[in-house]
Amino acid sequence: MAKWTVRAIQVGSIDLDRSAMTHYKGKGERITVPIWCAGATDGVHKVIVDTGIRDLEEYKKAEPGVSQTPAQITTAAIKRIMGWDPEEVEIVINTHLHCDHSGSNKEFKNAKFFVQKKEWEAAFNPLVPEAPFYDKLCYDKSAVNYFQWNFLEGDTEILPGLRVITTPGHTRGHQSAMFDTKDGVVCVSGDICNVAENVNGNLEPNIVVMVPETYESFQRIRQFAHYILPGHEPAIEDGSEKFIPVL
Ligand SMILES: [Zn+2]
Repeated sequence: MAKWTVRAIQVGSIDLDRSAMTHYKGKGERITVPIWCAGATDGVHKVIVDTGIRDLEEYKKAEPGVSQTPAQITTAAIKRIMGWDPEEVEIVINTHLHCDHSGSNKEFKNAKFFVQKKEWEAAFNPLVPEAPFYDKLCYDKSAVNYFQWNFLEGDTEILPGLRVITTPGHTRGHQSAMFDTKDGVVCVSGDICNVAENVNGNLEPNIVVMVPETYESFQRIRQFAHYILPGHEPAIEDGSEKFIPVL
């Protein structure tokens, strides 16, 4: 069985109230959190999970606290951490299509994209509260050729040692990527867990469209994963292969 190496890639920061990620806990406490992508390889394949933001000024309309250094622009960050040019990337997994996770999809012209069919449909028909986080220019035909997409219906093995599992809650078609590494299974969770405290403390993030499913998704992650790279966890270093243990 192929063993994967997974690295955290920081593609921006968001200054926010801590309770935005941990329901009502930590209200009034300002913190700065990273926006994470992940780069992964089994020694043969080049895989990216999530692609960061599209346009800083545009994203500020949904999330005023966002910032990005030139070195954090997605393509520059991937080159810095993984050494890859965008046209070398073969597989892009979108955990979900919010604009801080799919924003640079358009850069990966040779990649196959993997998203849940439900998420794709939801992104073109958002509920009122989630509309500010879906930006069609991140995933419509101007960004990704239709024939690059693979629309998934449930848990799927992408390659030996790489699976996606459905983790709905934060969005209707959310999925998480699971990598078999030498240290155990690493879950790149997207925003079903903004931070590790969500799964380890059984505490939902603020942006949730399906509450019971969120807690079921935490349970699935606990069942399968040894380590987690959450979408916005501050206790992980840029470029690191060390993630947070799942309790
Ligand atoms: Zn999100």
